Parts: sequence; C-alpha cells; structure tokens
Amino acid sequence: MATIKLEIVSPDKVVYENDISMLIVRSTGGELGILPHHAPLVAGLVPHAMRIRLGADRDEQLIAVAGGFMEVTPEKITVLATAAEQPIDIDINRAKEAMARAKARIAAFHQGTAEGKDVDIDRAELALRRSIARLRALGSQFEE
Ligand code: ATP
Repeated sequence: MATIKLEIVSPDKVVYENDISMLIVRSTGGELGILPHHAPLVAGLVPHAMRIRLGADRDEQLIAVAGGFMEVTPEKITVLATAAEQPIDIDINRAKEAMARAKARIAAFHQGTAEGKDVDIDRAELALRRSIARLRALGSQFEE
C-alpha cells in the first residue's frame, strides 16, 4: 500500500512522525484529504483535530493542531504548527477551562457588558476553536 511521510512539528518538538496512508486536515480554504503522490501544496491551517489513517485501516488517529502551515510534496507532508498535541498529551481540564473562559468572553462581548468592551473577539473565537480542537482530539463530549 502506498504511503506518504508525515511530520508534525510544533515550536518546541516533533509531535508526530510516521508513514501514513491519508491525512485529513482543515485548511483556511476548507477540508483537504492528502494521499501519497499528492501535488505540491502549501496551505494555512485553522484550529482543528487532524485525522491520520494508517495502512488500509479506516480507523483514524487524531492530533489537535492550533494553527500553522502544511507543506505537501509527493513524498512528504510537513505540518508546522503553532501548537499541536497527541491526545495522550492533552490536559482535558485545561482545555475545558480554556473553553469556558473563551465562551464567557464571547458572551460578554455580545451582551455589551463593561468587561465585554475589552474583549478581543477574534482572539476569543480562536481560543474557543483551539479548545474545541483539543476536546475533539480526545473524543470528549461537550456542548459547543
Ligand atoms: P490555554 O489558555 O489553556 O493556554 P491556549 O489555546 O491559549 O490554551 P496555546 O497558545 O494553543 O494554548 O498553546 C500554548 C502551549 O500550551 C502549547 O505548547 C500547547 O501545546 C500547550 N497546551 C495548550 N492547551 C493544552 C492542553 N489542554 N493540554 C496540553 N497542552 C496544552
């Protein structure tokens, strides 16, 4: 079975390295499925849980990615992530607390409360999406 090398790098370490059969990512332009021998490509990534398939298996390994870039050549996919974690390295309580903080900021912003005036809404929305990416990578149940 054809494979393609995948390397996921965060600023401080190599998070994942393997020969895989498919990677499904969410780019700024939408969802992309990368197979071996894919045409060269560079894409920006939004916060999400990347899906990795190995061999003919349709089971997927999930990796949380906070954002960054993906470079594809026919032999290799390189993900340069602002932050990325394997599920085993994700602190579920930290992700839930980040989600609660982001939701409270977004609610205050839309209600126009005094605290809401200081909220950077784009930053809060991104923090919410990073927390969702981490909880999705854990397969955790939560309300969006
Ligand atoms: P928080 O508000 O909890 O810091 P964040 O989304 O702002 O969350 P990031 O800026 O994306 O955090 O990441 C900062 C660093 O913390 C990165 O090294 C990232 O891997 C790590 N990190 C963030 N959240 C978690 C988590 N829930 N579990 C494990 N590592 C995490």
